[in-house]
Amino acid sequence: MRVVVVGAGVIGVATAYYLSRVGCEVTVVDRAGTVADAASRANAGQLSYSFTDALAKPGFIAQIPSLLAGRNPGSRVRLAPDLLPWGLRFLAQCTSGRAQRNTLAVLHTAMRSASLLNDLRQSLPFNFSHRSAGKLVLLSSDDELRSAEASSKLKNSHGCATEILTAKDAIGLEESLDALSATFTGAVYSRNDEVADARPFTLGMQNWLEKSGAATFLLGATVDRIPIKQNRVRSVLVAGEEIEADAIVVCAGAWSGKLLRPLGVDPHIYPVRGYSVTLPQGERSPLISVTALKQRIVFSHINGSMRIAGFADFAGFSTDDDHQRVKTLVDVAQSFAPLAANYAALEQQQWGGFRPMTPDGRPRIGKTRVDGLYLNTGHGMLGWTLACASGYDVARAVTKTLH
Ligand SMILES: Cc1cc2nc3c(=O)[nH]c(=O)nc-3n(C[C@H](O)[C@H](O)[C@H](O)COP(=O)(O)OP(=O)(O)OC[C@H]3O[C@@H](n4cnc5c(N)ncnc54)[C@H](O)[C@@H]3O)c2cc1C
Repeated sequence: MRVVVVGAGVIGVATAYYLSRVGCEVTVVDRAGTVADAASRANAGQLSYSFTDALAKPGFIAQIPSLLAGRNPGSRVRLAPDLLPWGLRFLAQCTSGRAQRNTLAVLHTAMRSASLLNDLRQSLPFNFSHRSAGKLVLLSSDDELRSAEASSKLKNSHGCATEILTAKDAIGLEESLDALSATFTGAVYSRNDEVADARPFTLGMQNWLEKSGAATFLLGATVDRIPIKQNRVRSVLVAGEEIEADAIVVCAGAWSGKLLRPLGVDPHIYPVRGYSVTLPQGERSPLISVTALKQRIVFSHINGSMRIAGFADFAGFSTDDDHQRVKTLVDVAQSFAPLAANYAALEQQQWGGFRPMTPDGRPRIGKTRVDGLYLNTGHGMLGWTLACASGYDVARAVTKTLH
């Protein structure tokens, strides 16, 4: 069975791998000249299997006035017509029942992803700086603590292993936290969370799949359209030429809606921009991955460097403010954790990417109402974490329907 995968981010490449494992002849098409060129390029690298908490939750409503007034440095909102329908859908998810269901649905996918990546790692012939780092989420108010306790209890009752620690116990685990400029009230610790670099993983997978003949990559090739006839797709159009396939899997991240809407399929994805900077280590760099909830930033120790990532901007596909936003990210990180990185270093890698965000925080995986058309997209803040289970699931969906 011939399958075209549109998009060569971490999701497209994981999809290609699992499709090849079930015997499909796979072609991956991406408009970029290299794989992992968009959201999968320099993300925070956290395999955040335990932190699947939905962004849409009752507490979010209270933050809206400060977000709209631009008082939260970690988030910018540009009110534009394209945000409105998505925003209304997002608000509809902000009930405690829906937030719990969404958190648990993603948790179950994340736990399967952990186990699949663990199996896969044994056979991978390349290094992607994987480390069983554990993760600490720092809490800075009683409200955050109460909400973290409730969430931990819920997730632990579904097989997750998180612990609530006092600030003193957290510093006992990760000594660099005593060099922070601000105090924190406590932390959530998950020893099972990991860290690894998504880009070398995606590049390594591409090489491995190509060398073994398991998949072909067509890079620098934009899919302009997916023709539909009698509710069936059989090809993608690239520069006026048709590439034929028995199935097409759209893994086009934040751009998926553009390709899918003409086919009557809308995954309701909004591009939520985030940023990262990769710096040399500082005098007191944390080894455990650290998330500062209030500041909306994360610190990941990847391959001897400190990657600081975060922020969530709702401003469409605009990249106009990237320079300023990365500067703000670095300022916030430096004032919070002045010794975590060498902020004065000249060799800084700065980056911005669009998270493909659905209103309920759940990815869209599986078949659609159009025969031959499948989705693996909408992974939002957790695409790297969910990549293996998502690729596995969509490969199963393709073979189940078409065999
Ligand atoms: C700042 C930041 C930090 C993050 N940190 C983490 C983290 O710590 N852990 C985690 O799990 N996740 C994290 N994420 C989220 C994660 O990076 C994304 O969920 C993930 O990369 C999405 O992968 P993807 O393959 O779906 O999309 P992408 O990597 O964006 O790939 C989509 C691809 O589709 C291609 N494409 C689009 N349209 C077409 C077309 N018409 N024709 C051909 N090709 C097309 C694009 O060129 C692109 O290469 C973070 C994201 C950001 C922005």
